[in-house]
Amino acid sequence: MARLAKTQEYTTNSAQETIALGERIAANLQPNSIICFFGDLAAGKTTFIKGLASKFTGCDVEEVNSPTFVYLNIYGEENKLFHFDLYRLKDSSEFLALGFDEYLYANGIACIEWSERIHSILPKECIRIEMKSISPDQRKIIIVNPLENND
Ligand code: ADP
Ligand code: MG
Repeated sequence: MARLAKTQEYTTNSAQETIALGERIAANLQPNSIICFFGDLAAGKTTFIKGLASKFTGCDVEEVNSPTFVYLNIYGEENKLFHFDLYRLKDSSEFLALGFDEYLYANGIACIEWSERIHSILPKECIRIEMKSISPDQRKIIIVNPLENND
């Protein structure tokens, strides 16, 4: 029987609620998880990662910001989180040329904003988080985990 990916839908009413959701998700993640974020600018991708990264690595929420000019920020020491923002990246060959694929299997968690840039090399098992603004303070957040079932 086909295995269905587990899908969860949330609506948050403030940045703080999105951070709290990121914290909750962090508790269920295995090392080497790859989380791909989809959503426009200001959809709340970085805000979600603030909660996730601070909970998972113990870093300060304030430390987490979009690494727009360097592509990658690394948080934590024992538990590491690799935070990519690929907005300015051309394509997956540039990603590979920079040696970034190594971080996807470096025993931490990888969070990738603008992951559509490297669509062609993303593994099937990666978790997808789609975020949408529905009002200035409301966001719809859909999380799809292909490694879990809905039942
Ligand atoms: P992205 O990384 O997707 O470009 P950011 O997380 O950097 O988005 O920015 C989201 C902006 O929207 C922040 O200024 C945040 O305070 C604001 N915001 C308002 N409501 C929410 C919400 N419910 N969830 C997340 N961010 C929100
Ligand atoms: Mg961002």
